Amino acid sequence: MTSLVAEMVGDQAEEWDRRGRLPMALVRELAGRGMLCAQVPARYGGLGLTAAAGGAFTAGVGGLCSSLRSLMTSQGMAAWTIEKLGGAAQREARLPELAGGRLAAVAFSEPAAGSDLSAIETRIRAEGDTVVIEGRKVWITGAAYADLLVVFGRFGDGAAAVLVPVSAPGVRVERVPDPLGCRAAGHADVHLDSVRLPADSVLQRTGGSVELLVTSPLTYGRLSVAWGCVGILRACLNAATDHARSRTQFGKPLADHQLVARHLAELLVGEQVATRTSEHASRCWDAGLPETATAAVLAKHVGAVNAVRGAAAAVQVLGSAGARDGQAAARAYRDAKLMEIIEGSNEICQLILARHALTVPR
Ligand code: FAD
Repeated sequence: MTSLVAEMVGDQAEEWDRRGRLPMALVRELAGRGMLCAQVPARYGGLGLTAAAGGAFTAGVGGLCSSLRSLMTSQGMAAWTIEKLGGAAQREARLPELAGGRLAAVAFSEPAAGSDLSAIETRIRAEGDTVVIEGRKVWITGAAYADLLVVFGRFGDGAAAVLVPVSAPGVRVERVPDPLGCRAAGHADVHLDSVRLPADSVLQRTGGSVELLVTSPLTYGRLSVAWGCVGILRACLNAATDHARSRTQFGKPLADHQLVARHLAELLVGEQVATRTSEHASRCWDAGLPETATAAVLAKHVGAVNAVRGAAAAVQVLGSAGARDGQAAARAYRDAKLMEIIEGSNEICQLILARHALTVPR
């Protein structure tokens, strides 16, 4: 599958990044083949990949274009939310739509609720056989392309997720202008003004705190981002080693200068460590182990930190050849930084990991 996507992407990622848009025909084609949410089980019309196989595919796409990989993360997270929080009828109706090409994005964040999702203010209010949604979401990956939004909000005394068609009256999507990285990933703010929908738009498993409800979707997202970072690191390693072999300074290839070789060694270490932690988390997911959530946080954190370091090293090895906007290493440098912010920033991951260290006996 990765080679098919590689053929479709070709050398266009740089141009998409500069324009800040992915071609809709390509996005629809991949979505229609179920490749943006490849872990949806076959009984719902999906490709039914394991987390391990889905991760390897995500890394492959991440190495080609982080914007496209970001859409995979969002679409997969939307599908997983429906699988996990939806009732049987909702799963049977909605999952084939997503596996068949309907584009979805997931909306947690709000102006006053970033790291602290307990501050979510969006309200989902029951009115007869309808629900009314009121709120504002920010920085939603893929929302500029989406047909459907999975919106988290307050519902009664607890929280719920509701499926909101972008075409519903009261929904307004506003692109985030000029993001630092993943520039073609369609980040957008979403205004929800008295959006009225049928009551069964609310996913069946409701109640409890927002933090509890979002744990499972976030675990999917973290694992997907972790594999995306592996892709970034592989792309950086390839760009840096190719350049270090072919560029000569002071009478020998850059690779033969020991300080340059050290950058290459550190890049390889980063790529390997990120790969192993992602593989471990995917194995936990596939085995249904309770430690999956922590393993996904670890993989995401290790992946993001190493992707930032690795991309900086790659730009350093390329010198001026990596200093042009849009060039693969330069793009990775900008894209990687965002991976330290999303799906739980570095600091939030560290807090979760510290809590784990303090409470779990070894
Ligand atoms: P804040 O929460 O304001 O944090 C700012 C800084 O303070 C960070 O460094 C943070 O780590 C630190 N900080 C905060 N609290 C603590 C603490 N207790 N201890 C130590 N440090 C702390 N949201 C969605 O819902 N859906 C999406 O698809 C989506 N996609 C995104 C894509 C991109 C590229 C970006 C940049 C954001 C996206 N977001 C999305 C929003 C994202 O989830 C938030 O940006 C993220 O949770 C951080 O929130 P914030 O930006 O409000 O930062």
